[in-house]
Amino acid sequence: MNDTSSRIDVKVCTDVSRPRDQGHIYVRAQQGRWQRLRRQLGWGLMLLFLAGPWLRWNGAQAILLDWEAQRFHLFGMTIWPQDLTLLALLLMVAAFALFFITAWLGRVWCGYLCPQTVWTFWFIWVEEKLEGSANRRRRRDQEAWSVDTLLRKGGKHLIWWLIALLSGFSFIAYFTPATELATGLLTGSAGAWPTFWVLLFALCTYLNAGWMRTLMCTHMCPYSRFQSAMFDADTLSAAYDAGRGEARGPRARKADHRAQGLGDCIDCNLCVQVCPAGIDIRDGLQYECINCGACIDACDQTMNRMGYPLGLIRYASENELAGQGVTRRRLRMWAYAAVMVAMLGLMLAAALLREPLALEVLRDRNELYRETLSGRIENTYTLKVANKTQQPQTILLEVEGLVQPDWRGQRQWQLAPGEMRLVPVSLSVADGSLIRPVQAIEFVVRHRGDEVRTDSRFFGPRP
Ligand code: SF4
Ligand code: SF4
Repeated sequence: MNDTSSRIDVKVCTDVSRPRDQGHIYVRAQQGRWQRLRRQLGWGLMLLFLAGPWLRWNGAQAILLDWEAQRFHLFGMTIWPQDLTLLALLLMVAAFALFFITAWLGRVWCGYLCPQTVWTFWFIWVEEKLEGSANRRRRRDQEAWSVDTLLRKGGKHLIWWLIALLSGFSFIAYFTPATELATGLLTGSAGAWPTFWVLLFALCTYLNAGWMRTLMCTHMCPYSRFQSAMFDADTLSAAYDAGRGEARGPRARKADHRAQGLGDCIDCNLCVQVCPAGIDIRDGLQYECINCGACIDACDQTMNRMGYPLGLIRYASENELAGQGVTRRRLRMWAYAAVMVAMLGLMLAAALLREPLALEVLRDRNELYRETLSGRIENTYTLKVANKTQQPQTILLEVEGLVQPDWRGQRQWQLAPGEMRLVPVSLSVADGSLIRPVQAIEFVVRHRGDEVRTDSRFFGPRP
């Protein structure tokens, strides 16, 4: 369970009181079960993000938010602006899932899954590989510049930029076809806007993950401000068991620290040195804490070394630390879960009941009706027909509610995947066949045994 391979030198650790130096946080790398989990989740999500634009479905890009055409293609489904309900439900499911997880596990999203954290740890990993451990990096920054430092720092920024450019490209490839964007960028024919957006997102990635890091979480992320509203006394967070740890202080490994009036905390400061937010969890729950578990792994390593029970810092609730045990009767948390499940059900129902075709009818607003030379009454419409699937659809248009109407305009054709077509149509009926001056009619679009209906009106003279 615990990583005992990493060595800990208590004396060396106590030399460094804080990982901050003139505002910069030198994060010490930490091994352990939570860091392993965080890395695995981080790599998995990052690979998904990078591979996402290259996934294909029925010969087309599987996930594409086509901004220009105002369509969202998702694994064979095309979501139109008319399907806003579906998107709104999806956002509500995501929001309530986040509320539920936060009420249950605190800021676990921030520590394990948020792109800001995943990219920040990736950048820190590159920094560590090129510039050395946290203490070495701190010393290097205090020393005069040398060729070695120049090469190492230059290499770090180069790799950061490469990662940032790859991230910027991947992000924009969700909004514009990935193959076109890649070819365009490689041949210099991508155009000004796509190039600008890729560079802008690359710059944001470089600054956020390379320079701002947890400052972004502390000062700019709105979630860090309101997440505490979802907490209750049973929310799990990284917490220091002060009852067990105090009074803190150094001691010999084999000493009977209880007899010396000491608790289990040896004040090695490792939990502070590994914290990406640069805080001391022993000061209590703080809003800068992203719940990443690095301090838990660091402290478990120390406890292991000293032969003390693990979990001096652990994921625990306020009630648990106060010795009140764990309760499942948590109204707010279960209410979030219930709303999330209800929204998910509604979203699935909306997705399953979604029509594969859309039909909108626009009446000619210039004249209500006109009489043709042959004495018939004619109304003019524009039909907007859209294929919301990613397969071609052969469609047939009809009208109901009129006696022997004469249809002028296209009635049957094949719509390409995701195609939307405007079709001008004139309908005429024999004078006298109308039973009222404003007749309710229905346009029907049929395909493969299914039909989509839209109401409209047919105007004529008073009978
Ligand atoms: S206090 Fe612990 S859990 Fe919170 S951010 Fe720092 S290392 Fe991560
Ligand atoms: S809480 Fe654990 S890691 Fe932090 S100073 Fe005490 S013993 Fe060291």
